[in-house]
Amino acid sequence: MIQKVFPIRTSLRAPPYEGGAFADTLGRPLRDLRISVTDRCNFRCVYCMPRDVFGPDHAFLPHDELLSFEEIARVAGVFVGLGVKKIRLTGGEPLVRRDLHRLIGLLAKLPDIDLTLTTNGSLLAKQAQALKDAGLQRITVSLDSLDDVTFRAINDADYPVARVLEAIDAAAAAGLKPVKINMVVKRGVNDHQVLDMAQHWRHTGHIVRFIEYMDVGSTNGWRMDDVVPSAEVVKSIGDHFALEPIDPGYAGEVAERWRYKDGAGEIGVISSVTQAFCRDCNRSRLSTEGRLFTCLFASSGHDLKSLVRGGASDAELRDQIVAVWRARGDRYSEIRTAETARLHKVEMSYIGG
Ligand code: SF4
Repeated sequence: MIQKVFPIRTSLRAPPYEGGAFADTLGRPLRDLRISVTDRCNFRCVYCMPRDVFGPDHAFLPHDELLSFEEIARVAGVFVGLGVKKIRLTGGEPLVRRDLHRLIGLLAKLPDIDLTLTTNGSLLAKQAQALKDAGLQRITVSLDSLDDVTFRAINDADYPVARVLEAIDAAAAAGLKPVKINMVVKRGVNDHQVLDMAQHWRHTGHIVRFIEYMDVGSTNGWRMDDVVPSAEVVKSIGDHFALEPIDPGYAGEVAERWRYKDGAGEIGVISSVTQAFCRDCNRSRLSTEGRLFTCLFASSGHDLKSLVRGGASDAELRDQIVAVWRARGDRYSEIRTAETARLHKVEMSYIGG
């Protein structure tokens, strides 16, 4: 199957950016950059990259289409110059991109950056120390179940949960801690395992975030009935282990945080469906072949690669990014309906979470 080609929005020459603070049409600053370094993954998670769509004949992006590590680092440098404080590397599965520690090394040179990465953990045990040594500060591991049968069914790659648990230990041993652990909760699939997941990570220092199942992309057959509201998750855990809310660490923090009153640590919930957080969303996304997306649920991206490979200066790149951001008005989760869920949207396996 040929990948649906989303229209490239190549804006005309952007007006020069005069410096100083800037915001989008809803007054939101640009603070976070998520960089997808590959559209490939070794898992086929049913809510992200269903095998019937991303099968053996799926056409992934050819390597020469991808931004090189040097190009990514250059673009990221421009974003940091514009005020970005946090860079998250995503994919697909970022660790399938060879020598990723080399990119980490380039990005770690950028000033005052919180540098993190989201992975399915399958390749982490081998790479954790090299990633840490290269400058990675934190890591998030996706772990949708502790039950091996359920875990294998969700990743649809017959990958054992034990290997991911070992990888989390390896990451912590390498100094990438606390590890954040993301569980996408889907009704009738793994919602009955929420308490086990919470229990397992209590007193470990690691932080579990329970994520509402989302209508990302156009291929996971999302239905509202399959969503377990975060309020339900918090109640089911709180009924066993008393919880109290924690104030957000910064404006635009995605997870709503709760701490165990008995000091056993904290959890988070990410509630894009039932408690939209678009009002202070300050996240931009760069795809692996250099398109700038202003929302996880966008249907098109702005081409930066032509500028990067067309001899544009950093100032021209910067003008383009500012122009795109200033025109941004995304607030998909606030306007989500059963109809919008069926719209053609960029795939999460391509743009990252
Ligand atoms: S739906 Fe789009 S605008 Fe809203 S929080 Fe998510 S990425 Fe941001």
